[in-house]
Amino acid sequence: MSGGYCYGEVEPREACGCCGGEARAEFCDVGVGYVQVSEFACTECGASPEHRRSATGEWIVEWIRPPSPSECGMRVTGYLVRENGNVFETTFDEDHQVLYARMNTSLSGLLSRGAARITNLEGYAIDLPAFMPAKAKRAFGRVVKQIDAEGRWGLPYVKMAASTFGREMTRAELMAEVAGLPEGEALETEVPVP
Ligand SMILES: [Zn+2]
Repeated sequence: MSGGYCYGEVEPREACGCCGGEARAEFCDVGVGYVQVSEFACTECGASPEHRRSATGEWIVEWIRPPSPSECGMRVTGYLVRENGNVFETTFDEDHQVLYARMNTSLSGLLSRGAARITNLEGYAIDLPAFMPAKAKRAFGRVVKQIDAEGRWGLPYVKMAASTFGREMTRAELMAEVAGLPEGEALETEVPVP
């Protein structure tokens, strides 16, 4: 950690080695430019690079992700399945709103890119996007399977993109709807989802 940049330059960012998200560091104005005062951290998964020596003595960078809520034994109250297949867990204290703020986006922004939201407060509620890349569909399927295996499913309330109201679906109906979504490609610009 010894970076910095000059006035007029763009703040350096790095790609997260864990999830590919945008990693940012804190910089401090020192009068002639900016010096880096914190390690880079991924704005999505929270990973940071760690520098250590390999067995052959060279410095290598390894991105380390902090443990997920379930790995810490916390109660998971929701999931965000990103369009690239990354899955983020949410908890009562670190809910979806905290996640969106960290990602600098909103639910509609995420849905418009092909991400899906699963919440579990008083039963499961699911928001599906209008299209879902294949990677996201597979990740979604894995989450559903995991919830299923833990026997905590019930009838989820599913809201399809562009519909005002949702409806309860069985797991089979839900998976059929997801399978039927066009796969599309992630959009470059956000389109509002009603
Ligand atoms: Zn990351």
